[in-house]
Amino acid sequence: MRITLCDVGPRDGLQNDPVQLEPAQRAELVDRLSATGLPRVEAVSFVNPKAVPRMAGAAEVMSTINRKPGVIYAGLILNGRGLDDAIAANVDEVHVAYPLTNTFCRKNQNVTLDEATVIGQQLVEGAKAAGKRVTMTLGVSFGCPFEGPVDPGLVVEHARLAVAAGADEVILADTVGVAVPTQMTQLVPATLAAISGTPVGLHLHNTRNTGYANAAAGLEAGATIFDASIGGLGGCPFAPRATGNIATEDLVYMLDGMGVETGVDLDELIRVSEWLGGVMGRDLPGLVHRAGPFIPVGTD
Ligand code: ZN
Repeated sequence: MRITLCDVGPRDGLQNDPVQLEPAQRAELVDRLSATGLPRVEAVSFVNPKAVPRMAGAAEVMSTINRKPGVIYAGLILNGRGLDDAIAANVDEVHVAYPLTNTFCRKNQNVTLDEATVIGQQLVEGAKAAGKRVTMTLGVSFGCPFEGPVDPGLVVEHARLAVAAGADEVILADTVGVAVPTQMTQLVPATLAAISGTPVGLHLHNTRNTGYANAAAGLEAGATIFDASIGGLGGCPFAPRATGNIATEDLVYMLDGMGVETGVDLDELIRVSEWLGGVMGRDLPGLVHRAGPFIPVGTD
């Protein structure tokens, strides 16, 4: 069994951090991540730098990275200007996203959910017309910090709309880290059934320490793409008290042990996490970079 990992550290990990990394540093992070065998990196987001100053200079990041053949370099967009910028910067894959409640849509993008849905579909169509692979990420699929529980039927319906517009895959996002494993068991198969043949992935945060349990349950339930961020860095500028994504190296450790192929070198990933901790000036939330891989010490 093989799954696709996408490191979202350079985007989700850094977008709300107290530390500002310059485009050259972010490009170095992307290069170090791609060198570990990761098949996909969400390198940038094309959002208004006034709204998200940490993501300023996305085009410069994209033009600075050393593109490794076979690696998909993705960029997140929220609107038409972002799509134009993503195409101009020649990303391999466009990540379109919107959250599934009116209140979160208002705070995130200043639109209603209906408006966000139409924009999302137009962006998918525009990216496909430009010849790009497209991922649709449905925010707050497992719960909203403002409106509470989200109807699983609504999530499935929006997944169907995204695929009808041309999305190559759908990612269900636990944006604020409230989900529990039984939600994965329910929602992943329901989504897969609604968009038969189109892959379903998960974007998980470990805000309440359920992220890895959710990943294991989601894997068993049929999810084949997982977002994670190196070191467990992360948050959301529009979500109160949202903390980091699941850590890529912790997820790889778990998947390795379960016999699931990722193509990623865990030792290399741990070195990137240690390097990034040095750049950020603090220990990152993940645990495997502290404990190391499982190597018995021996008794002789
Ligand atoms: Zn996130």
